[in-house]
Amino acid sequence: MSHSILGKAVDKGLLSLDTVSLRAFSQNSYGSVDDYTYGGGAGMLIACEPVWLAYQEALCRTERLFDEETTGESWEEKKVRVIFTSPAGRVFDETMAGELANEEALIILCGHYEGVDQRVLDRIVTDEISIGDYVLTGGELPALVIMDAVSRRIPGVLNNKDSAGTESFENGLLEYPQYTRPAKWRGESVPDILLSGDHAAVDTWRLTEAKKRTGKNRPELLEEWYRNRGIF
Ligand code: SAH
Repeated sequence: MSHSILGKAVDKGLLSLDTVSLRAFSQNSYGSVDDYTYGGGAGMLIACEPVWLAYQEALCRTERLFDEETTGESWEEKKVRVIFTSPAGRVFDETMAGELANEEALIILCGHYEGVDQRVLDRIVTDEISIGDYVLTGGELPALVIMDAVSRRIPGVLNNKDSAGTESFENGLLEYPQYTRPAKWRGESVPDILLSGDHAAVDTWRLTEAKKRTGKNRPELLEEWYRNRGIF
């Protein structure tokens, strides 16, 4: 998050981030936060209390961050959205990214081992989010994925205000193929139409290509695109 587009956004003050370590709230001298699962089964589970205390710490830091702007309402009352990263969650998509970008603050809880005791999740989590149908060893990469996708939807983070609007998924289709200079590269030319200067023709070509690509890679999205237009 300190490099490239997101790093610049942080430098410009468009967003900020902070981390809280669960280990700092370990309830024993070993600094561990996991324990065996009731009912048996392989693997360890993160216990309630370290998560609860880390959550309180995250809330305090959020409140401090927005102190000057608050209207007397405490952040606890406002209920900062708390995301738990989990393969059992709702699958993350661009619509969710756009919606989360409207929040002033987000807390993301990363699981590890087998996950987290359900009682503390029931107490604090507002959104259970999966980044796809596969299982990772921890929630740190999912948290980064969510942070990246949400951050680029914050106004000013991307230079070109158009680019967030024409990407894959924005209009229900995947993005059309794109080309840059040189016009001829190792015998391969850029499609003539893109050099024609005819903007309407370029738009038509791009839509056709976007539909072709969507049909090939994500046929269910193309079907939905047609359905939304009353075709089929
Ligand atoms: N026992 C869990 C898997 C635990 S994986 C289950 O079967 O649902 C360990 C942690 O990695 C999870 O708690 C979660 O925080 C994170 N994680 C793994 N895969 C993920 C995914 N696809 N999306 C979001 N988080 C994931």
